[in-house]
Amino acid sequence: MCIFCKIVSGEIPSTKVYEDELCLAFRDINPQAKVHILVIPKEHIPAFSAINEGNAALVAHVLVTAAKVAAQEGLESYRVVSNCGPDAGQTVEHLHFHILGGEKLSEKMV
Ligand code: AMP
Repeated sequence: MCIFCKIVSGEIPSTKVYEDELCLAFRDINPQAKVHILVIPKEHIPAFSAINEGNAALVAHVLVTAAKVAAQEGLESYRVVSNCGPDAGQTVEHLHFHILGGEKLSEKMV
């Protein structure tokens, strides 16, 4: 089972900020901004590249949740990132969207 599936099952603890039957948002263990939250589907989707018509409704729900979580955190400016593949910095093979904010972010994305 992947590390984020273990967080979903409760085997690994996390600092949850939102949860429903389909998705989970929790604080990144190694924050790269003042606010750094990960939003994930509970179902194991390995990466952004595995998004397709069959899971599109779930992915849309995860993104709607990301917007709600950002608002809940009081963020007006923020960045949403999904690293796909090792050269893009993906280290956990379970689809996740980073919400980064709470401070002025770098203008460079790469
Ligand atoms: P990525 O490198 O884009 O795949 O993002 C994976 C993110 O997961 C990194 O920012 C890690 O800091 C974060 N991470 C890894 N393990 C945990 C954990 N147990 N709890 C919270 N965040 C984690």
